[in-house]
Amino acid sequence: MTAALDTSRDLAHGKVSTYTSGCRCTECREALRLYTADLRARRRAARATVNGRPFATADQTGKALQHGTPSTYQNWGCRCFSCRLAQADDHANHRERNQL
Ligand SMILES: [Zn+2]
Ligand SMILES: [Zn+2]
Repeated sequence: MTAALDTSRDLAHGKVSTYTSGCRCTECREALRLYTADLRARRRAARATVNGRPFATADQTGKALQHGTPSTYQNWGCRCFSCRLAQADDHANHRERNQL
């Protein structure tokens, strides 16, 4: 049973947990931005190099990442052939949509 959260009190602001609870104040949004930047930096640091390119092997739980998706390219910094292709496709799709 979860009661509706009153984000204006009882919550510490400037925290990711408060942001995910629904608060969108400047402090909480900044906390999320820093958290995301840090997460991406750590994910990038954990990449392996395959064929001279950065390759994201597994997520934080050790589960193998799915390749050939724009999210693995963007969130994990994978630059394998499949992910680069997916990212290029994604960009092409955006361009097509914008031309319509
Ligand atoms: Zn807040
Ligand atoms: Zn990949």
